[in-house]
Amino acid sequence: MSDALLRHAPAYTTCAYCPKMCRFACPVAEAAPSESLSTWGKMVAGHLVQTQQRPLDEDAARALHACTGCMRCSTFCKHENQVGPALFAARGATVEAGLQPRGAATTLATFTQSQNPFGRELATLVAARRALGPVKFQLFPGCSALVKAPALVDDVLEVARRFGAPMGVARVSSRCCGYPLYAAGAHDAFREHAAAMADAMSHVPELTVLDPGCALTFLKVYPAFGVKLQTRVHTLVEVLADHLPHAPATPPLDEVVGYHDACHLGRGLGQYDQPRALLHRAVRQVTEGASVRREGGCAGGGGLLPRTMPDVAVEVARRQAAEVTPSPDVAVVTACPTSRRMFERAGKKSYDLVTLLRRWTEGT
Ligand code: SF4
Ligand code: SF4
Repeated sequence: MSDALLRHAPAYTTCAYCPKMCRFACPVAEAAPSESLSTWGKMVAGHLVQTQQRPLDEDAARALHACTGCMRCSTFCKHENQVGPALFAARGATVEAGLQPRGAATTLATFTQSQNPFGRELATLVAARRALGPVKFQLFPGCSALVKAPALVDDVLEVARRFGAPMGVARVSSRCCGYPLYAAGAHDAFREHAAAMADAMSHVPELTVLDPGCALTFLKVYPAFGVKLQTRVHTLVEVLADHLPHAPATPPLDEVVGYHDACHLGRGLGQYDQPRALLHRAVRQVTEGASVRREGGCAGGGGLLPRTMPDVAVEVARRQAAEVTPSPDVAVVTACPTSRRMFERAGKKSYDLVTLLRRWTEGT
């Protein structure tokens, strides 16, 4: 039995003996109504495998992968049980047994070969966006933004300049933070990757991180794996909110938008006020869903769910978009590039916060 399963045994057991108090909270269980995919059902699978009361088979492997790591169940749990990390750890046993769902296995294989989940050579993308003039902040966009949304990186650089906080893409951005290894349960490989990344970052005193998933990985997951960063890490919204007094005195756009609290930024890092401060300067009106901040819903992009259960992931995003705003005319705004892509896949009009800030500062 793997050490990771043993380390998280108390978490599995806590859920196994719970009368499913957070049954309503899991976005995956709501999108794919099945008791075995509820928080309780998934953790019971972990408990039974860990205590060797059931074999690790394909059904158990599927259940262990049906989690975005959104932490919403922990919010409503009296024990604040850490379900996401426990399920991610259990995925390690599926790697050992050759029972990973296909999407997770191919992600891991691509990462092992290319050191990022896209199989792309990132150094060229980074070099194309290196600063020509002096910069105040080193930007770490995250490989997802570099590969999937390079225009978003340009938006960041332009908005930062207009806020009096010029940024350049840090050379170290040609490496992935390692989150896919963590989410795939390849935890020995993750620890090794994190240590190498910390070493590569050691000459950068301060890093501004666009993707909240990368920021959470640096700030919370690395320390949980015993990896210490010498670099001070801030999120992009933190830096921009600090510089809001220096933003152009442009009137807000005459638009109504809905705001989605991304899980890694909100529940993960407690950053609820900074994106709202930016958004309320940029547009005339902001609407929100019934559940916000610590209780806010999930967009389905984490935990490799878009790769292991793509239809369920899109349904999670569709439901969250409808929760933020049922109106097809009102766009959902989020500070997480992965969440925005999920809303787009769900057919919802959506903007990255920084793209909206660019339009505001340009008065377009
Ligand atoms: S996370 Fe908490 S509330 Fe939910 S099933 Fe586990 S112990 Fe119960
Ligand atoms: S972390 Fe999120 S997706 Fe995972 S079991 Fe809890 S509520 Fe469900």
